[in-house]
Amino acid sequence: MILYKKITDLHKYLDTQRQNGKSIGFVPTMGALHDGHLSLIEEAKKENDLVVCSIFVNPTQFNDPRDFEKYPVTIDRDIALIEPAGCDVLFLPVVQEMYPVGVKTGRHYDLGYLETLLEGKYRPGHFQGVCMVVHRLLEIVMPDNLYLGQKDYQQCMVITRLAELLHLSDKIKINICPTLREPDGLAMSSRNMRLSKEERQKAVTIYQCLIEIKEQLKQGELHQLKEKVLSRLVQAGFKPDYAEIADAANLQPAETWDGKQQLVALIAAYLNEVRLIDNMILAS
Ligand code: AMP
Repeated sequence: MILYKKITDLHKYLDTQRQNGKSIGFVPTMGALHDGHLSLIEEAKKENDLVVCSIFVNPTQFNDPRDFEKYPVTIDRDIALIEPAGCDVLFLPVVQEMYPVGVKTGRHYDLGYLETLLEGKYRPGHFQGVCMVVHRLLEIVMPDNLYLGQKDYQQCMVITRLAELLHLSDKIKINICPTLREPDGLAMSSRNMRLSKEERQKAVTIYQCLIEIKEQLKQGELHQLKEKVLSRLVQAGFKPDYAEIADAANLQPAETWDGKQQLVALIAAYLNEVRLIDNMILAS
């Protein structure tokens, strides 16, 4: 595996590879890697000649500075994990390399209503920060395939929209990979490292709530089911931002279900200082 810290060096290397007809799969991450990240790398390895992974804790997507400061950094461990998973190139830039003229100059990405609901509503500016870094990374890596996790359902939609805005939809194929879970069902997440033993045990309630929604979904109004899950979260000691049932194609909240519409359940909730998110596609 080759490690690049400078954009120009990585650019040069990838240009040569591209000229030699190599296809490039790209897995952007913020590090503190787990099997979920590695599954994206493994998927990329199956479908591309070259797998590029980036590790960059992007300051512009943290609406809460404390969350940024406390974001886990485990770089030596990450490097040891990604090579056997199939990563050929690691891009590990510092903030100055990614944003040489600062972070305030970015353009505004027109994400429409997507930015006004769920994560967009509760984390103002978050998706502009995501677009800023992904735009920059796509320009640098210019992959044929981009690998994202369904764990961040709304982010997948935002990045798909970004690719349209940048007229890259024809050039870059976006591959959305399933959420990897711990044996008890908790979605793997870098933030799980910040949970105490007791919090870790409670955290699985989010998954159990998603299962509850999936099992109890029936035609008609959905308000009661959403309320039931919200109170279960509160009783378990969470501070929920939302427990929503939405149209799986556009994330518009669903008030009723006709038995046909494809829906997704999405939850975001704090366990003390740690904010966890998860989602589950519901049967249509
Ligand atoms: P992050 O490092 O959290 O920014 O995540 C980097 C990529 O890994 C994103 O595309 C995430 O959606 C994806 N990812 C995070 N957690 C999981 C998981 N449990 N299973 C699959 N993919 C994941």
